[in-house]
Amino acid sequence: MIWILLITGGAGFIASNFIINILKGHEKLEVINLDKLTYAGDTRNLEELSNHPNYRFIQGDICDRALLETLFEEYQIDGVIHFAAESHVDNSIENPAAFVETNVLGTMNILDVARNYWMVGPNEYKEQFKNARFHHISTDEVYGSLGENGLFSEDTPYAPNSPYSASKASSDMLVRSYYHTYGMNVVTTNCSNNFGPKQHSEKLIPTIIRKALALESIPIYGDGRNIRDWLFVLDHCQAVEKVYFEGKAGETYLIGGHNERTNIEIAQMICEILDEIKPLKNGVSYRNLIALVEDRPGHDFRYAIDDRKYRESFNDLLKSDFKENLLRTVKYYIEKQ
Ligand code: NAD
Repeated sequence: MIWILLITGGAGFIASNFIINILKGHEKLEVINLDKLTYAGDTRNLEELSNHPNYRFIQGDICDRALLETLFEEYQIDGVIHFAAESHVDNSIENPAAFVETNVLGTMNILDVARNYWMVGPNEYKEQFKNARFHHISTDEVYGSLGENGLFSEDTPYAPNSPYSASKASSDMLVRSYYHTYGMNVVTTNCSNNFGPKQHSEKLIPTIIRKALALESIPIYGDGRNIRDWLFVLDHCQAVEKVYFEGKAGETYLIGGHNERTNIEIAQMICEILDEIKPLKNGVSYRNLIALVEDRPGHDFRYAIDDRKYRESFNDLLKSDFKENLLRTVKYYIEKQ
């Protein structure tokens, strides 16, 4: 039996890595990738799958209910992993409406179409879809900001601070409500900042690398002391796969990298890597390009995750080497130039 998995947002950073990975490990899985191809989506991220028999790309919008209904019918979708989102905090400050549209209404649409297609009524699945599952991908930003100490856990109250995190928090609540109201088989994962190959150039690490390679000033918000917990994208993909196949219905799992770094530290590390593998002819360090710029409004100070629930549930330490992964990421962007 082939399992038909609908991935939303599969041309984006995390989901493109995810699709390539999951198809390597599962012969009896077919992936339908639904992506609107906003500025953030790029089908070149999935070039290596162009002739893969178990992969199909469909350009479309999760807000288009009629399209979703047709897709579920046509492909008899068995499961959904929902990555599609407007994902950049800075854009959400400029244009919050697009975030509500895709992240809230789009999530509502796909949840509801899946429920109608898989279930006959509350707590009652059609026999053919009795194992069907909806996995929602979310962020630790829904929990707001931490001070110097403490960690987010699954029990931390929601306190989103940006239109982006508010829209993701709303989508998490909708997913939760479909479990409690309809008995739908849902799981949610909230992860920390991802990094790795194929991330859009607008995000922090690609921006640092891009600016450094162009010998332009590397902008770091505020005093550079904001802290993020960096998770390598392939570690995240592995965790999502585990939760999708083995997680408990109705549960939320936090996924982190145990790897807290200030933004300035990240910029310095990238500059050191470049100094080593692509030294400037005049012997000057790329570090000189780092420039502090006016802070982002509402900039959360620190995110950090207590992911014991995930690690203990799946016996998974998610412990790949940060420096090695950062080097791999820098090399990817150098080659992509
Ligand atoms: P991304 O911006 O790289 O990719 C998003 C993809 O979704 C793009 O391919 C885009 O074309 C597609 N998309 C956007 N609107 C759509 C719509 N209406 N219909 C169909 N497709 C649409 O995002 P990412 O960084 O890969 O993030 C993926 C998911 O992970 C998001 O839900 C995000 O909130 C979550 N997340 C990301 C991070 C991170 O560090 N990148 C951290 C925590 C959570």
